[in-house]
Amino acid sequence: MNWSDFRDHIATADREGRRKWMYPRKVSGRFFRWRTWFSWLLLAIMFTGPFITIHGNPLLLMNIVERKFVVLGQVFWPQDMIIFAVAILVFFTGVIVFTAAFGRLWCGWACPQTVMMEMVFRKIEYLIEGDAPRQRELNRAPWNAEKTFKKLSKHGIFFALSFLVGNVLLSYIIGWWQLYQIIIAPPAKHIAGLSFMTGFSLLFYGIFARFREQACTFICPYGRFQSVLLDENSIVVAYDHKRGEKRGPLRRAQKFGERRFAGFGDCVACNQCVSVCPTGIDIRDGTQMECVHCTACMDACDNVMTRTGKSRGLIRYASLNGIELRKPLCFTPRLAGYCVILFALTTVLGLLLFLRSDVEATLLRAPGSLFQQMPDGHFSNLYTVKVINKTSRDMPVELRLESPAGDLRVMGQNLVVPSQRLAEGSVLIELDPAAMKSGTTSLVVGVYSGGQKLQTLKTAFIGPRN
Ligand code: SF4
Ligand code: SF4
Repeated sequence: MNWSDFRDHIATADREGRRKWMYPRKVSGRFFRWRTWFSWLLLAIMFTGPFITIHGNPLLLMNIVERKFVVLGQVFWPQDMIIFAVAILVFFTGVIVFTAAFGRLWCGWACPQTVMMEMVFRKIEYLIEGDAPRQRELNRAPWNAEKTFKKLSKHGIFFALSFLVGNVLLSYIIGWWQLYQIIIAPPAKHIAGLSFMTGFSLLFYGIFARFREQACTFICPYGRFQSVLLDENSIVVAYDHKRGEKRGPLRRAQKFGERRFAGFGDCVACNQCVSVCPTGIDIRDGTQMECVHCTACMDACDNVMTRTGKSRGLIRYASLNGIELRKPLCFTPRLAGYCVILFALTTVLGLLLFLRSDVEATLLRAPGSLFQQMPDGHFSNLYTVKVINKTSRDMPVELRLESPAGDLRVMGQNLVVPSQRLAEGSVLIELDPAAMKSGTTSLVVGVYSGGQKLQTLKTAFIGPRN
């Protein structure tokens, strides 16, 4: 194995294969400032999301156990799975188009892992343990009162935050009200809920306190897809090797003109871009799978360029062609193909949403029931009706037997389905033997609300065989 070749090994492992702990230095600069503001916005959305309701429904709920899904206040039922499947296809195609055009912009700016790690946990670590050199020193130092205090405070806060993040995630799954019930009720009543709470908290603590960049390099499949999604026109965080090479230290009082004459470029080999990188790579080696596009190296290099009197952007958002041929981002046939597919899928999704029925009803014979003969000679069958109301208003529902002639009665009170809910009832259907066929008779039942027909149901009526 060639240890001088970055392609032969990963930056976070040593020659024995042991994990190399990363100590990225604090970074400052315009991209970091913009990312900080943007991350505050994302964190605000993430933490308030479970409490925001639209028409009484949460903004987002993914209750897999109860098979209840809410997106932007719209309840989606298992019957809407086709919409979900198309939405997932649209999502993945969108990711492909976006990545082909803009690389891993998502990872650096909006991925919850990067936002939480770099904008929350890392900042707390800097606050308690100081910048990278102080952290190294502290980790090498023997255990004393200061080290114990700092480590306990850091990990205590990390665990508290992980608990909070775990609970927020859980409230996106079961809803904040149910989560509140778990918190206030005796633990024995909610063993499953408490197990999830503890599991999520430990998982997030493990990720943010220990696992860190390994989640991006080993677990996340998105980084691995990069190599097939990116092309020479994709925008990535890139080092302008044409401008930067040949790299070499800037000697005191040396002018850049003299450097150029000596064959040197703008890179002063200060290694600042490497020291701030949370995944430990050297972006000057080219686009790498480990790069999460966090922009730290761009800021670090911009600061160096400003100090040395050169223009910013030696490391910047650029495409390979942009650097090699000085070409701006262009619309390649591959990108056009992806866009056509994305457009087609979005159209299908729009149509499915537009044509989605307001009511979804099923009428099935009550399990285990047999036909009955009434004193007047008519036969009856018992059914179970289930009606899902997908609208945002309560809906009185009426069932009418349309064929053959007979009598249909909903047992109990009238069927009124609350908004975005499912209602269930029993239905008794009576037929005159003259209208029946031997054995099984087909029935057609209309579902009405406010005099308007919403759906036609077909079911079977069982009677005696002649
Ligand atoms: S920060 Fe800029 S100048 Fe310094 S080594 Fe990196 S690319 Fe070169
Ligand atoms: S190379 Fe630059 S953008 Fe990529 S992860 Fe490292 S610091 Fe972030």
